[in-house]
Amino acid sequence: MRTICVIGVGYVGLVTGTCFADLGHQVTCVDVDAVKIEKLCAGVMPIYEPGLEEMVRRNAQAGRVHFTTSYEEGLAEAEFAFIAVGTPQGSGGEADLKYVREAARGIAEAMQRPVVIINKSTVPIGTGDWVADIVRRYQPQPIDFSVVSNPEFLREGSAINDFLFPDRIVLGSLHPDAAAQVAQLYLSLRAPIVITDLRTAEMIKYASNAFLATRVSFINEISSICEALGADVKEVAVGMGYDKRIGHAFLEAGLGYGGSCFPKDVQALAHMAAVHGCHPQLLRAVMDINRDQRRQVIHKLRALMGTLDEKVIGVLGLAFKPNTDDMREAPALTIIEALLAEGVSVKVHDPVAMTEAKHRLGDRVTYFDNYYEALRDADGLVVVTEWNEFRRPDFERMKSLLRQAVVFDGRNIYDPSRLRDLGFTYYGMGRGGV
Ligand code: NAD
Repeated sequence: MRTICVIGVGYVGLVTGTCFADLGHQVTCVDVDAVKIEKLCAGVMPIYEPGLEEMVRRNAQAGRVHFTTSYEEGLAEAEFAFIAVGTPQGSGGEADLKYVREAARGIAEAMQRPVVIINKSTVPIGTGDWVADIVRRYQPQPIDFSVVSNPEFLREGSAINDFLFPDRIVLGSLHPDAAAQVAQLYLSLRAPIVITDLRTAEMIKYASNAFLATRVSFINEISSICEALGADVKEVAVGMGYDKRIGHAFLEAGLGYGGSCFPKDVQALAHMAAVHGCHPQLLRAVMDINRDQRRQVIHKLRALMGTLDEKVIGVLGLAFKPNTDDMREAPALTIIEALLAEGVSVKVHDPVAMTEAKHRLGDRVTYFDNYYEALRDADGLVVVTEWNEFRRPDFERMKSLLRQAVVFDGRNIYDPSRLRDLGFTYYGMGRGGV
C-alpha cells in the first residue's frame, strides 16, 4: 500500500484516484471546487461515468479514498502527488497551464516529505521541467522531489476499464528511480510500461491523440469523396479495417471528433509546432476537415428543404460521444447553434447530458426526456451522438410522429436502403449523394 494524493477531481482525477484506491492504495483527492468535494463526500457523483459511483462508494466506505479541498491534508503523508487538473485551450490555441501552475504551487507549499510529482494532465512538451522550477521556487524549505510525466489515455464512457486494462503505461522522467517507483503503482495491471524521458512522454500523448484525430478526419475526407462518387464509406471502412496494417478503430465517418481532448490537443500541438518554427500542415488539415463535417448538416438540410427558417428539427444526442454527459466541444453544440442561426426551432434529447445541455443552451431549445417526443411534428431529425438506444428505434412510430420523414444520420447508425424502403428521406455521411 502506498499513499497517493490526486490533485484535480475531474474525469481523469476521480477515476485515477478511485482506481488506485481499488488497487489497495491510500488515496486523498484534492480539488479547489468545494461544491464538487461536498458532493463526493456525500456520495453524489459530479460526473456521469459508468461504474464509477459504486467504485467510489465501496472504496470510501473502506476508508481508502477521501475527498478534500485542503492541499495540506492531501499532501500530509503522500509519497506520490498526481496532477490531473484541466489544461483547456488558451485564446491563441495553446494549452492554458494556469491550473497546472496553481497545482504545482499548491504541492510545493504543502509538501511535508519527499514526494514524486506526476503529471497526468495533458501538457505541452517541456512542462515537466517548468513544474519542477515552480515547485523549487515555492517550497518554504527545500524538500526532495522529482517530476514524472504519466500521460493518461482513458476514454470517457469506458474510463474505469481503460484505467484498469490499459494498452500501455507511459512514464517519462529525468530521474529513472522516480519513474521506476511510479511503475510499481501500476505493476498489478500487467500492462506494457514505456519508460522514457520527460519530453518524449509528453509528446507521446499529443502524437497519439493527433494520430487518432487524423484517422477520423481521413475517413471523413474519404466519406465526402464516396458521397460524390456513389460509394458507401461504411463498407469502405470495413474493407480497409481488415488490413492488419490499418485496423478498424477510428475509421467511422460522421460528424467528426469533439470532446475535451482531441480538439484542444490537436490545436495545442499545431500551436507548439508553429511557435517552434515547424509548419504543421497535416494537423491544420485535420482540424479543417473536422470543422467542415459539422457544417455539412446545414448544407444538406438546406439542399433538401430550401430555407430552414421556421422549420422544426429534432436533435438526438447532445454529449460529444455516447456513455458520457460531457459536452465540451460537442458537435451537437455547433450544429444546434447553426440551426438556431438559420431560424430553426430545435427539439433535443440525450439520455444523460440534458442537465449539462440546459446549462449551455438554456431555453433556446426544447428538451424532451423521451426521444420520440423530440420528433413530434418535426420537419426532420438529426442523429448527432450514436447512443445505443437510438440504433433500433420503432421506425414506423418515428415516421408517424415526424411532419416530414427526413432523417439525417450524422453517425451512420441506420441502414440507408431499409429507411428508404420505409419511406424516409435518408441522408448519412458518405453513403450516397444528396
Ligand atoms: P476536468 O475539467 O473534468 O477536471 C479538472 C478538475 O481540476 C476540476 O474538478 C477542477 O475543479 C480541478 N482543478 C482546477 N484547478 C485546480 C487546482 N489548482 N487544484 C485542485 N484542483 C483543481 O478535466 P479532465 O477531463 O479530468 O482532464 C484533466 C486532464 O487530463 C486534462 O489535461 C486533459 O486533457 C487530460 N485528459 C483528459 C481525458 C478525458 O477523457 N477527459 C483523457 C485523457 C487525458
